[in-house]
Amino acid sequence: MEISEIIAASGNEGKIKEIIKIFKGARVIPMREAGFEDEIEETGLSFRENALIKARAVCEKLKKPALADDSGLCVDFLGGAPGIYSARFSGEGEAANRKLLLQRLKGETDRRAHFECAVCLYLPDGKMLFGVGRTTGHILEEERGTRGFGYDSLFYSDDLKKSFGEATAAEKNKVSHRARALKDLMEKLKKL
Ligand code: IMP
Repeated sequence: MEISEIIAASGNEGKIKEIIKIFKGARVIPMREAGFEDEIEETGLSFRENALIKARAVCEKLKKPALADDSGLCVDFLGGAPGIYSARFSGEGEAANRKLLLQRLKGETDRRAHFECAVCLYLPDGKMLFGVGRTTGHILEEERGTRGFGYDSLFYSDDLKKSFGEATAAEKNKVSHRARALKDLMEKLKKL
């Protein structure tokens, strides 16, 4: 199936930029530009459920295909936390989230972690498609690099052999959880 226009059901500029670069087959319009102003409550208990909640809310209101992602950082030593609560980990924004993560891992040698992403494409006829992706690495002892957003400067990528904060957008997009989830989704879309 070919889709020419998709509404990106996200208010996060960093994520929208990545979606636009990766999702080359269609014109991607950020939901705010398309006139969606509501706040969507992420009440799901998994990345997949939250992606569905966001894509469905935007699609049902704008009557256009909507693509949402839900993603986060899962740290082994913390039992997978902050996970779906990554954005709200400290309750005080991204810089405070990074600080709290470093505090929680202070003195810990097992610093393995992965980013995980679920994407959902919700169509006006009620059809929905999902994609999932992950990328592995570990949490650094201190921030490295200033690129990206969120936990990027603390995440040393197994694939890139440097932190996401040091990687260019093109490098990150080759291996990121979001890129992998979108590729997974596109494969499924092609088969429809
Ligand atoms: P969401 O908007 O509910 O999906 O929350 C995602 C949160 O997870 C972001 O606010 C970041 O804290 C974190 N996160 C997700 N993907 C990335 C990434 O690619 N780099 C850095 N942090 C990320």
